[in-house]
Amino acid sequence: MPPYVSHVTGVLDENDEEVSTKNILPEVTKPENRKLQLVWRNIILFAYLYLASFYGLYLMFTSAKLATSIFAYFLYQLGGFGITAGAHRLWAHRSFKAKWPLRLLLAFCNTLAFEDSVIDWSRDHRVHHKFSETDADPYNAKRGFFFSHIGWLLCRKHPQVKEKGKQIDLSDLYQDPILRYQKKYYLFVMPVICFVLPTAAPMYFWGESFKNAFFVNLFRYCFTLNSTWLVNSAAHLWGSKPYDKFINPAENFAVSVLALGEGWHNFHHTFPWDYKASELGKYSVNFSSAFIDFFAKIGWAYDLKTVSEDLVKKRVLRTGDGSHHVWGWGDMDQALEDYEGAIIKHRKSDDFN
Ligand SMILES: [Zn+2]
Ligand SMILES: [Zn+2]
Repeated sequence: MPPYVSHVTGVLDENDEEVSTKNILPEVTKPENRKLQLVWRNIILFAYLYLASFYGLYLMFTSAKLATSIFAYFLYQLGGFGITAGAHRLWAHRSFKAKWPLRLLLAFCNTLAFEDSVIDWSRDHRVHHKFSETDADPYNAKRGFFFSHIGWLLCRKHPQVKEKGKQIDLSDLYQDPILRYQKKYYLFVMPVICFVLPTAAPMYFWGESFKNAFFVNLFRYCFTLNSTWLVNSAAHLWGSKPYDKFINPAENFAVSVLALGEGWHNFHHTFPWDYKASELGKYSVNFSSAFIDFFAKIGWAYDLKTVSEDLVKKRVLRTGDGSHHVWGWGDMDQALEDYEGAIIKHRKSDDFN
């Protein structure tokens, strides 16, 4: 086993000890130069999905009813919440708790997005945080955009991913009967929720044709996949690093818009147990936080964990890349012009400026 993979590089939830990433030298996290074993079944299925999705997009603008497109958008949002608020923030990171009706709703939404059961998704994601940018990271961004976006699903997993995945504690997830049942009956329930119902509903309720309903739904599914995959690819490659410049994940606005608020990835890898997955409170680029806040208001979500401003400030000053906004007077990023041009009233002595 290469020694570097045993280095833990990230925290998962609020009980996890923070481990500094500073000591991990870039050269030891280079991906192993191995021959990838392709999984042709997945390559063919995804090739079909992309072709069918483009056809669905074409139909949206040519023959599908407007209601079908609006419905597809609605399902994209719903499925997205199943991944972002559900699998990611609730289950993989335990950043808040939810009563059973919300867990059931999120499990439904999650199945609509068809990205594997929550238990399997969370195992991969916990390994991703624990061993970020190493061979044990299922979507190791050190292998480039294509691999971290979709390529990792088109080949066999690196043995390290499997080995480290087995060591990840998933007992909390197995304790939830909703997740146990989702995993057990996934192959029966998923096709119904992700494909049959979204195709049947437009046909039944507003007389859409099978062709339009089927292909527009495939576009919706493919769009959700690509939006969430951008978090693993684009948000690990491009953007600023105001919280920790020693890690790859970055702040990416475009990804946040598409992935319902999951693009603030430098913050997220620094404080993965924050239910907002970002410092920003603006709902316009974080629909998932609005979703969780709404359910907290009606009492279905509780114990929402968030990072204090003071903790963020300390971290920004310690490991940030300097792109964070100015904290206040004397911040190292405060412009000299502002510093010198400020009016200081009631000045007592130069020692206090
Ligand atoms: Zn990540
Ligand atoms: Zn995460």
